[in-house]
Amino acid sequence: MLLPNSKRILLKLSGEVLMGEQQFGINQETVAELAREVKAAKDTGLEICLVIGGGNIFRGMAGAAKGMDRAQADYMGMLATVMNALAMQNALENLGVHTRVQSAIQMDAVCEPVIRRRAERHMEKGRIVIFAAGVGAPYFTTDSGAALRAAEMQCGALLKGTSVDGVYDSDPKKNPDAKRFDTVTYDKVLADNLKVMDASAVALCRDNEIPIVVFSIREKGNLARVLAGEGVQTIVQ
Ligand code: UDP
Repeated sequence: MLLPNSKRILLKLSGEVLMGEQQFGINQETVAELAREVKAAKDTGLEICLVIGGGNIFRGMAGAAKGMDRAQADYMGMLATVMNALAMQNALENLGVHTRVQSAIQMDAVCEPVIRRRAERHMEKGRIVIFAAGVGAPYFTTDSGAALRAAEMQCGALLKGTSVDGVYDSDPKKNPDAKRFDTVTYDKVLADNLKVMDASAVALCRDNEIPIVVFSIREKGNLARVLAGEGVQTIVQ
């Protein structure tokens, strides 16, 4: 067991894992597959907070690079994360898993606002809470949103499911000799600018002693393996 003393985790999924083989947007079969992985994890007795990125739809930096006002573009990115959250909510509820979406940008007709105590109550009732819209402010990312929610919801770990199977000392796509760390310290990640999460997210996890587990969510069954302590991953601690 990865976390013998904690039954609550925060799972952060990058938006791009929702694309499947597509170049853009949401692949519903992929989202359904991810939902099955999340349900399997929940069925082991874990309480799960979910944060999903928006990079499959819109990233503020990309908009700004093409001349948009950065804050305006970031708000579009945050709205993209709400769409992803609703897609995941739908997929989970198709499996009979009860969920609530809480958005940091208030959107009463589609989801709840972020209210920590209400989120706690949802968890007690066995619901998965999907936190959308990051921290609700531009110039941040959903990694920071994930670190913030992991801290306030007192999660035992932040699991970051991406398309790579951990943290490497150099880019494994460019360097065939790149080495994956089994464990690495927060300070090394920050000092060497290793590609894990943005610096503010890593610092927030460090200051609150929340281990970050980086693993590939693309392989079937991997989330369960990682949670059982049998997967391939990097633990930042
Ligand atoms: N974003 C933001 N503030 C937040 C969270 C997200 O401005 O607190 C915007 C930002 O433009 C970001 C986009 O939403 O590029 C999508 O989130 P992110 O890039 O973190 O998604 P991921 O890379 O995980 O798919």
